[in-house]
Amino acid sequence: MSDTMQPVSISPRPAPARSSRPSIDAAAARQAIRAAEVALLDERRQLTAEELDVLAHVPDESVPSLAALAHEVRLGSCGPEVEVEGILSVKTGGCPEDCHFCSQSASFDTPVKATPFLDTDEVLAAARETAELGASEFCIVLAIKGPDERTMDRIMELVPIIREDTGLNLAVSAGILTDDQARRMAEGGVHRYNHNLETARSHFSKVVTTHSWEDRQHTCELVRQNGMELCCGVLLGMGESVDQRLELLSELRAVEPTEVPINFLNPRPGTPLADAPVVGALEAIRWIAMFRLALPTVILRYAGGREITLRELQALGMTSGINALIVGNYLTTLGRTPTEDLQMLEDLHMPIGVLSKVI
Ligand code: SF4
Repeated sequence: MSDTMQPVSISPRPAPARSSRPSIDAAAARQAIRAAEVALLDERRQLTAEELDVLAHVPDESVPSLAALAHEVRLGSCGPEVEVEGILSVKTGGCPEDCHFCSQSASFDTPVKATPFLDTDEVLAAARETAELGASEFCIVLAIKGPDERTMDRIMELVPIIREDTGLNLAVSAGILTDDQARRMAEGGVHRYNHNLETARSHFSKVVTTHSWEDRQHTCELVRQNGMELCCGVLLGMGESVDQRLELLSELRAVEPTEVPINFLNPRPGTPLADAPVVGALEAIRWIAMFRLALPTVILRYAGGREITLRELQALGMTSGINALIVGNYLTTLGRTPTEDLQMLEDLHMPIGVLSKVI
């Protein structure tokens, strides 16, 4: 080695999620992918739970074929446009809940400290920046269990101001809602409400103990019943098995989301999941494709963790079923610069557009 050469350091390949059965062989994988293509593109029907189970077990060599089908399904169901969204944490940290992945929980000693609700001017400035990027959605996020009356008033005051100033569609993420709160948000102009299922019902109590999976599901139902679009995300990489990811897919189908943000765990210092291994890049591509094949018409959004999980494969995710992006920074972690993301879309010939559910 010359004086100027440095030793090359490559991240080791993380172990994939546990499964109760082995991968199928390449010939069976080809057959399963072809059958899925006929079902989704010719017969225009949803894949069954059994078909999804087989696809989740194709070998690594077949993941590019799975991804190629997912891309075709996305183009056929949603078109080539990509929806761009900015998110802003308007009330950060100090959350009474104990979600084991979250650095905003007051239960853990993390570097994220509680800060009060941002001023209207600060929120408006961020919304204007988001609009300048060509985005169509702006989501204001609060680290709370659910809104109290004062918080409801602040949210309902902000929504029309931002909408009228920027023309952006407003999304809100403010935790668990009552029926009355969901109605007031819908009437007040909230276009989409974010409430994640995060993980499968059977895994939920391992990562959250202060509220139940059913609490989350109930809010998801209220959002739709009151006429808002439901944005219902997931967080992969919290120790869930392949079977539990498949369970989550069927649970997501049941709440009928307009949008599904896919987050990959970015382990946060001080949280119980601080030392969890990150999801491998190829495994992430496999599951992006699986989400598209299970949910052909949803807006499938790249959310947190894609930078550390996918690294150079981020563009490949865009051709594996993703059709929406969060640009800029996430709630407590830094994302790529918006310019890098917009360049990626330009390079892929993917126009930025406004999307809504195509069913
Ligand atoms: S994920 Fe949301 S509810 Fe859970 S601790 Fe973090 S901010 Fe609170």
